[in-house]
Amino acid sequence: MEMEKLSLVVPCYNEEQSIPLFFAAVEKIRTALTNTTIEYIFVNDGSRDHTLTVLREMAKDYPDSIRYLSFSRNFGKEAALYAGLEHATGDYVAVMDVDLQDPPELLPQMLHLIRDESYDCVGTRRINRTGEPPIRSFLAKEFYRVMNRISDVKFVDGARDYRLMTRQMVDAVLSMTEVNRFSKGIFSWVGFDTKYLEFENKERVAGKSSWSVWSLFKYSLDAIVDFSDIPLALASFVGLASFIIAVFFMIVIVIRTVLFDDPTAGWPSLVTIILAIGGLQLFCLGIVGKYLGKTYLETKKRPIYILKETDKKQKK
Ligand code: UDP
Ligand code: MG
Repeated sequence: MEMEKLSLVVPCYNEEQSIPLFFAAVEKIRTALTNTTIEYIFVNDGSRDHTLTVLREMAKDYPDSIRYLSFSRNFGKEAALYAGLEHATGDYVAVMDVDLQDPPELLPQMLHLIRDESYDCVGTRRINRTGEPPIRSFLAKEFYRVMNRISDVKFVDGARDYRLMTRQMVDAVLSMTEVNRFSKGIFSWVGFDTKYLEFENKERVAGKSSWSVWSLFKYSLDAIVDFSDIPLALASFVGLASFIIAVFFMIVIVIRTVLFDDPTAGWPSLVTIILAIGGLQLFCLGIVGKYLGKTYLETKKRPIYILKETDKKQKK
């Protein structure tokens, strides 16, 4: 069997402590990957610590296997993944976090599933969320429930971005050049036979998570807008429902006035209704605005990331 290349795409944002630990952990399982060379592609996503210095050093020490890309600013993990996939040259490509929450020990099994059982992709999901604030787990669970109801694309609860893909699938992912990238949705959208491996949640080895509950909440709203147009339909549904209710009450008022000659009192209820309808209108307008905003950004066709430095072209 000839040698095949496995590329590991690793986004890093303020991870100076985790990177060496990650590298050591992967090197430890290296012998379990038969007939495989590893290419590391670290993507420095505008870190404010010494991540870039660490990467430069490592690329110098291991010029054959370690490559890095460094952005001009923080573009977000999704952009980092895209850049990494674009530069990966392997026959197989895995994307994984650098904080060792994605256990490298799974790699041999993942590779085996793709090579010998002809899957196109092996994903991973954690079966528990120990070490995470309960509120975060609850919100995440609800997000997957809602998302699966309102989108045609399937989302696996607890699925991580950690996955191994064939070259063919990587090219499919790269063909989706949208600026608003929600990787979980994109990986699912492109299709292909995917097998999910399960593992117990791990806490990160060093550094801290760059996600707060609030940023995750905003992220999930973006994901919904990126992969579902149900909210748009919801706007018309709410409008229609309130219109029907209004007609019903109109009829009631007319009948009541004709039959009972009712001297109408109660402007407070009127004000309440006006406020409620006004609020609904603004809410629906907001939904439309959100989609319009996304469309606006897409039509600008801005690049997904901007490189400042790579292992080939070092800034002096
Ligand atoms: N990350 C990134 N850019 C960002 C935020 C995070 O490249 O703007 C990377 C980070 O270095 C890590 C991975 O994405 O390798 C996952 O981030 P984190 O561990 O903070 O997320 P969590 O595991 O808490 O969901
Ligand atoms: Mg993490």
